[in-house]
Amino acid sequence: MSDSSLLIIGAGVAGLLAARDLARAGRRVTVLEARDRVGGRICPISDGGFSAPVEGGAEFIHGEAPLTRALLREGGIAWHDTAGRNYQAQNGQLREAEEFIAEMPRLIQALQALEHDLPLADFLDRYLAGAGNAELRRQVTQFAEGFDLADLRRASTFALRDEWAEGGAEDSPRPAGGYARLLELLTRQCAAAGVTVRCQAPVHTVHWRDGHVRCEGPGGTFEARQALITVPLGVLQAPPEAPGALRFEPELPGLRAAVAALGMGSVVKILLEFDAAFWEKADAPRPAPELGFLFVEAAIPTWWSQQPDPRPLLTGWLGGPAAEAATPPDTLLTQALESLAAIFCTPVAELHRRLRAHRVLDWGADPWARGAYTYPTVGGAAARQVLATPVADTLFFAGEALYEGPAGGTVEAALSSAGSVVRQLV
Ligand SMILES: Cc1cc2nc3c(=O)[nH]c(=O)nc-3n(C[C@H](O)[C@H](O)[C@H](O)COP(=O)(O)OP(=O)(O)OC[C@H]3O[C@@H](n4cnc5c(N)ncnc54)[C@H](O)[C@@H]3O)c2cc1C
Repeated sequence: MSDSSLLIIGAGVAGLLAARDLARAGRRVTVLEARDRVGGRICPISDGGFSAPVEGGAEFIHGEAPLTRALLREGGIAWHDTAGRNYQAQNGQLREAEEFIAEMPRLIQALQALEHDLPLADFLDRYLAGAGNAELRRQVTQFAEGFDLADLRRASTFALRDEWAEGGAEDSPRPAGGYARLLELLTRQCAAAGVTVRCQAPVHTVHWRDGHVRCEGPGGTFEARQALITVPLGVLQAPPEAPGALRFEPELPGLRAAVAALGMGSVVKILLEFDAAFWEKADAPRPAPELGFLFVEAAIPTWWSQQPDPRPLLTGWLGGPAAEAATPPDTLLTQALESLAAIFCTPVAELHRRLRAHRVLDWGADPWARGAYTYPTVGGAAARQVLATPVADTLFFAGEALYEGPAGGTVEAALSSAGSVVRQLV
């Protein structure tokens, strides 16, 4: 190949891994990144008064995640199991919670009897109807919306069955020192391989013809023989006039329909660091010793601590359709503190007094993400195939949304998709 130039749009893990491997294979790679940092939806936060870095985006290693673990091993980065007891707040009481879905074996059995895929909402209506299944329906709905971020009317029952059977939600360790260390590793490796990474270089138009690409944006104009686009699905789904949107000139046949057929879910993540882990204290009004996860029917329904790390940080999580309401961050903070006050039977004013640092991240409102991660839709495989097919050997796509398998919506998915596209581009 005489001209080895390649532009990669997006410096998330998919873009960085592809850049590293393609540069190592002799390609001349420039990465164009809209933000002032690399990592995308891996978002370590080390400012804002927190006593140690916190994770604004990805935090856990879900399931086997062989590529993620191999990369961590390569960087000498250990990972630590999560620990602690899970609680449920209900009717003014805190009691220990069981599994996310208590009757998972019965659910999996019902799912395995299915012959054709259908939206999860239809599965629940048809196969888990009746008062006797009400609690299981509630748990499945809560899990599919809160963890998978799914719109139940579109979510693929088959794909969720495969993911849940893997048990990726339980047993999720964290990288020691956080995902920041994985980004540091990839950044070092990219530099060593000769990759140029340009931050604050958002692309708004990709002009292309066979064997030539010109990317334009406020950060400048960049040209190459080929381009690999790794922006999140939410960015590809955005209407052309929306902030952060990416346009193709000429338009790509089939792209709009393909991205519309896939599902991007929203998340609000709320990080609250207090002066002490007041919930652990035996003399607290309502103690929750060794708190791991906490589930509650409130505006912010899921919380977790950093167990076994004793730091006094609580993370709130609002996922799925409920996170799409575009609530202002101040209101979310107020709702979060009010929820915690009710759970722990502690005045809101006292929680305010104890609060040392906080951050509210609304990923649906982030113009360079426009959502948190994808969920599988009925018919999504065909749409992903459209995206995975190179356009005139000139435009290629990769990223978490293109992954096919049980680890959807994860760092693993992004790494796997990068690996597939690298094989096409070397
Ligand atoms: C709140 C949250 C929690 C999560 N928790 C976990 C978890 O615990 N475990 C896990 O495995 N996964 C988790 N994930 C998912 C995981 O973070 C993603 O699947 C993965 O990081 C996606 O990587 P990517 O490279 O495909 O996309 P991204 O990381 O989104 O990278 C794409 C890059 O493209 C850039 N970009 C966008 N538009 C443009 C443009 N027009 N021009 C130039 N650049 C542009 C973006 O800024 C971004 O840097 C979580 C995600 C979120 C948001």
